[in-house]
Amino acid sequence: MGGRRARGILKAIAEGYEVPTEPFIRDVVERMRQDWRSSRDGRYRDNPKSAALFEHEYAVDVKPEAWQALRQHVEGCVRTFLRLPLLAEIRRTPLAHWLVEYSSKAFEFEGTAVWVAPDFGFWNDADRLVLVDWKTGASAPESTSFQLGCYALYAHEVLKRPPDQVNLLEVNLRDGAVTAVHWDDARLEVIKERVRFSIRAMKAYLADAEANVAVMENFERTEELRLCRWCNFRAVCRPDLNSQS
Ligand code: SF4
Repeated sequence: MGGRRARGILKAIAEGYEVPTEPFIRDVVERMRQDWRSSRDGRYRDNPKSAALFEHEYAVDVKPEAWQALRQHVEGCVRTFLRLPLLAEIRRTPLAHWLVEYSSKAFEFEGTAVWVAPDFGFWNDADRLVLVDWKTGASAPESTSFQLGCYALYAHEVLKRPPDQVNLLEVNLRDGAVTAVHWDDARLEVIKERVRFSIRAMKAYLADAEANVAVMENFERTEELRLCRWCNFRAVCRPDLNSQS
């Protein structure tokens, strides 16, 4: 479970459903099974928005124990999510104060389009904008803080919310830990500088930066084939390895 499942629960709450724990978990597991079958049957080839698992695309054998462990993990995350005091606060918040729009947001940053997809956001009782990142795996503080910083940059650029009116929260759904990430004017400048650097670095690889055109031959491929083994892009980048998997 990640942002997607959390969004599903929040959407149900927004539509007025109670979301009782056990039926909801059964429903989540059944959807996981449907996604698994759909991916196994290769439906994503005709319908790219449907579930597509690496293991099916690359014919990786998945042991039943791995599926059981995943199911238990998702169940645990859903239970934790439904018990969160933060969820109780969100339930009390009028829908008009929710920020979530179930889709990505794009904004122009110094001439370049940047896409962000905050997991969730709302205006709390103190009229502060709270931006939330749901995590289901191990925490990586620096990347989480950058990700949340990009959400807050979006809030700054699009919603015109200054840093001192924004709370950034990382919520770990494995154990329910809620970590507030520090956010102020200086941090906003650090995030802007990182985004600038990232844009420059990506444009440097383009054959024609103005037209946003890349040429595959300009990108060096790793010689470490063990990295390619688990790479999503293997089918297009190293199709010769597919026959060896
Ligand atoms: S398959 Fe993936 S890891 Fe290997 S060279 Fe291509 S992009 Fe890099």
